[in-house]
Amino acid sequence: MNKSNTQLKTDHKFTDYIYWNLVAAVPVVTVCVAIVKDSVAWLILYLILCILTVILAYKFYCSHCPHYIKGATTTKCMFFWGIPKFFKSKPGPLNLYEKAVCVIAPIIILLPPLYWLRLQPGLLIIYFLSLTVLVTTIRKNECCRCIYFHCPANCVPEDIT
Ligand code: SF4
Repeated sequence: MNKSNTQLKTDHKFTDYIYWNLVAAVPVVTVCVAIVKDSVAWLILYLILCILTVILAYKFYCSHCPHYIKGATTTKCMFFWGIPKFFKSKPGPLNLYEKAVCVIAPIIILLPPLYWLRLQPGLLIIYFLSLTVLVTTIRKNECCRCIYFHCPANCVPEDIT
């Protein structure tokens, strides 16, 4: 582990936000290309589904996050920058229902595109590779020093400074 990974990350910078959104954009754009080849209407419906799911995650998952709680009126973190705090902050652990949202929300976003991607093997490979890069690099660089200790994915070692 390098030095920057041995300290808790109490704040995200604007460059973090740009970087992680660019990394996340690769699977998103891949899916959009796969769906729009078949139907613009399905793409619009899928994007609406994604937006609604992100709003759900923002309400039930992010509202417990220190990066959400500490913002006066907006959230500034690796995925959101200057987004208003629409929902009440909820410091403390997630309940069972909120944990279920954490599991179900990614499934709702990630599984439906497979219907279109299965017909386009090149895009399917890019989709899986880019998702793997996104998840593994977040795990390696963020989860191990994240201050959101109630997040189910948090893996900060006990001896971190
Ligand atoms: S760091 Fe993650 S959990 Fe916290 S507000 Fe941002 S997206 Fe939500």
